[in-house]
Amino acid sequence: MRGKIVKGIAGFYYVWCEDDKLYECKAKGSFRKEGIKPLVGDNVTVCVLDEEKHLGNLEEILPRKNELIRPAVANVDQALIVFAMANPMPNLNLLDRFLLMMEWQNVETIICFSKQDIVSEEEEKHFLSIYEKCANQVLTISNTENMGIDKVKQCLEGKTTVLAGPSGVGKSSILNALDPRFSLAVGEVSKALGRGRHTTRHVEMFPLDEDTYVIDTPGFSSFDTEELDLELKARLPETFPEFAPYLGQCRFVGCSHVKEKGCAVLQAVKDGKIPASRHRSYVRLHDELKDLRDWQRR
Ligand code: ZN
Repeated sequence: MRGKIVKGIAGFYYVWCEDDKLYECKAKGSFRKEGIKPLVGDNVTVCVLDEEKHLGNLEEILPRKNELIRPAVANVDQALIVFAMANPMPNLNLLDRFLLMMEWQNVETIICFSKQDIVSEEEEKHFLSIYEKCANQVLTISNTENMGIDKVKQCLEGKTTVLAGPSGVGKSSILNALDPRFSLAVGEVSKALGRGRHTTRHVEMFPLDEDTYVIDTPGFSSFDTEELDLELKARLPETFPEFAPYLGQCRFVGCSHVKEKGCAVLQAVKDGKIPASRHRSYVRLHDELKDLRDWQRR
């Protein structure tokens, strides 16, 4: 039987199967021998061991469309990065790291700014003006007034989307607004774990309909650059889309766009064509990556 891995905990994989049931599966030993790690999002075939108890074995992992390292998921179409515009004040450097991570892994990104109801129109415009060029789409929503949820729904339709963002920005309420079944599922899980609220600690995929999936990624709320590869060091300027028109126009070949004379990127920042906060994030990442050595490569 075919299915999709929606969750993996402590050696067990939970597979949503064709018969609309969730099977608890173990992976064959041969996967480990071959160095294959089943991932959330994997399309698999399952050999059913016990139909009543919903137990099975993972038999085969079907070819992957793509595979992300951070978060470790497979067959993803896009990422929805949720950030609050206020309360908590957004850490734009962190947002820029999320964007960079996705850009680097060739994942299309939608930025969703939440808590529209508590910021002024001006503040909202400020965020939009910084980020309009960094993502495939930028949305603003308000969870409390349920505004903008339809736009989010539209963006997700027919796709598999990774949901990312720091805690406290309203990710769970977005999930709940998208589909009331989530609050049910969340309630059950919380009860079983003896926790009062939705505190997911593992990557989990939720089916919205037949071909629409959302992957929640707790623990993907922050990360250190030491996790980033050296490859990124070389490609850092490319991961800032608004730098693109200026790359290759600097006076010096190998310009790092930090403080060099005749740097076209710095000039664009000065001219207001690249938001200063985005360039600050770039410099910070550049400085952190600068010290990476070959032996740190994983
Ligand atoms: Zn430059």
